[in-house]
Amino acid sequence: MMIGLAASAAGVVAACDGGAKKAGGAKKASACADLSGLTPADIKVREQLAYVEASKVEGKNCANCGLFKAAKPCGSCTVIKGPIAEKGYCTAWAPKAA
Ligand code: SF4
Repeated sequence: MMIGLAASAAGVVAACDGGAKKAGGAKKASACADLSGLTPADIKVREQLAYVEASKVEGKNCANCGLFKAAKPCGSCTVIKGPIAEKGYCTAWAPKAA
């Protein structure tokens, strides 16, 4: 019974994987996802401030944050080290000075 369930679950996972590849091909990593130059402490700060590459908070994103420094393809931030996406967001968001 347990073996049957495990085999079924593996089949479902494999099927889901295949569907994703058919729909959009291999997932392409974001240009701003390379954290290889950061220390574990730097990465921890990103996590503690709940940084995400795509803001889910209406009206708030890195591009309109006062702590963002714009650059292409990725900007930077005065409180979080590493690449920062314009559409990103973290809990340290602060409005730009007027
Ligand atoms: S403080 Fe947060 S929201 Fe503002 S630029 Fe940095 S990562 Fe983006």
